[in-house]
Amino acid sequence: MTTTRFAPSPTGYLHIGGLRTSLFSWLWARKNEGQFLLRIEDTDLARNSEEAVTAILKAFDWVGMSYDGDAIFQSKRFELYAKYVAQLLEEGKAYECYMSKDELSILREEQMAKGERTRYDGRYRDFKGAPPEGVEPVIRIKAPTEGMISFIDGVKGEINIAATEVDDFVIARAGGVPTYNFVVAIDDALMGLTEVIRGDDHLYNTPKQIVVYEALGFELPNFNHVAMINNEQGKKLSKRDGATDVMEYKALGYLPEALLNFLVRLGWSHGDQEIFSIDEMIALFDPKDINKSSSNYNLDKLLWLNAHYIKNKPHDELAELLVEHGIDIRMHEKKDLILSATKERGKTLVELAEQISIIINAPVAYNEKNAKKAFKGDTAKILAEFVVLLKGSGATMPAEYHAVIEKIVELKEIGFGKIGQPLRVSLLGSMTGSGLDEIMAILGTNETISRIDKAIEYMESK
Ligand code: GLU
Repeated sequence: MTTTRFAPSPTGYLHIGGLRTSLFSWLWARKNEGQFLLRIEDTDLARNSEEAVTAILKAFDWVGMSYDGDAIFQSKRFELYAKYVAQLLEEGKAYECYMSKDELSILREEQMAKGERTRYDGRYRDFKGAPPEGVEPVIRIKAPTEGMISFIDGVKGEINIAATEVDDFVIARAGGVPTYNFVVAIDDALMGLTEVIRGDDHLYNTPKQIVVYEALGFELPNFNHVAMINNEQGKKLSKRDGATDVMEYKALGYLPEALLNFLVRLGWSHGDQEIFSIDEMIALFDPKDINKSSSNYNLDKLLWLNAHYIKNKPHDELAELLVEHGIDIRMHEKKDLILSATKERGKTLVELAEQISIIINAPVAYNEKNAKKAFKGDTAKILAEFVVLLKGSGATMPAEYHAVIEKIVELKEIGFGKIGQPLRVSLLGSMTGSGLDEIMAILGTNETISRIDKAIEYMESK
C-alpha cells in the first residue's frame, strides 16, 4: 500500500513550501488509495510549541487536506527510540563516544587549518579502554568507512555519496535525547512509508538516514527530493517576497483550491495544463513528473487562478466566504445579481468584498477628481430628467434599466458618457465599479433615485 507522510517541525506557521510537499504526498496517497500520515517532529522541545501544532492543523483543515489515523508526535516516542539505541549498542553498531566538546572543537580547528571538511574522526569507534571520568557519553552510529551510499531519488535520479562524507554521527546526545536523522529514519520505517516526498534541503540528511535504516535492518522507502520554491527573481523565497504563511493567504482572500492549484504547478506539470481541480490533481499526479529544477513564485499567476476559482464558485459558497471579509449578503434578495455583477471584478475575496461594498453601501463622499469631471454643466438637469424617466419605467431588471439610459441618451441627444459618468459617481462615489444597469437593478429604483437626488443636492450646493 502506498503510504506517504508530512512531517512538519512545529516551530511556527505552516509555510507554503511545506504545504506544497505535503500536497504532493497527499495526492500520491489519495491517488493510490493509500495512506497519508502526519507526524509532528517535535523532539526539539526548546523550539517547538503547541500553538505551532495547532496552526499547522488549522492550515491543513482550511485547505481540506485530511490525514489518516492520529497524528504521531515524536516527543511521545522517546522510549521507543531509546530501545533502538540500546539495540544498536548491543549489536556493536553504535558506540559510546566520550569526546568532550573541547576536544571536538580542537579537532575542528585542526581540520579547518588543513582545509579539510570538519568531521568526527572515529576515535572512540573501537575504544576498549577505561572511559574518561566525568564525561557523559553521546552515542554514535558506525557509518560505513568506505564505498558509496547510494539511492535512486525519484526526482533527482541516482545519488551517490562517498561514505567518507558521512561520519559516525551522534544518534543520542548525552542524557539520551535522540537526534533528528535517527528518529526520522525509525519513524519513516515504522510508519511503513513507501514514499518520502520532501524538500531538497533534506537531500543530505538522506545518506545519514540510510545508515540508520541499514543498521536497523529496515527496508528503504523511495525518496523524492523536491527543489525549493524560489521568488520571482529566482532567489530563495522568503517573507520579504510576500506571504509565506498558508493562513495569511486565507486572510488575503485566496480560495484554498486556488492556492493548491498554484502550489501543485510549482514543481509539477502535466503537459501545459494550468487549471486542475482537486480530483484532477489526484487523478494525474505522479511523483515521477515532479520537475527537477526549482520553480519561481509568481503572484500574477496565483491571482489569475484565484480569479478563476472565484468566478466559478457557487454563489451560496461565495456569500458564505465573504462574511469573513465583512460582507454578509447570505440573506440578500439580490444575492445572485450582486455576485454575478461583481465576481469577475475581484481577484481575491478581499477585492470582491470591496466591489460589493461600494454598491450596497451608499457613498459617504464623492471622489473629488471624479466628481469634478462628472458633475459639471447641465448634469444636474440631465440627472433630474433621468429620475423622472426612472420613476415611470417600472424597471427591475438590468436590461430595463439599460433601456432607461438609452431613452435619456436619445431624448437629450447626448453621448452615453454624459449620463454614464455622473450616474456612476452619484451611485458609487467614484468612477469605478460594475455595470450601471446591474448596479441599478441591485439597488432598486428607490435607492437609485435617493442616491441621484443626493448627488443633485451636492451639485446645487456647489
Ligand atoms: N521536519 C522536517 C521539516 O519540517 C521535515 C522532515 C522530512 O520531511 O523528512 O523540514
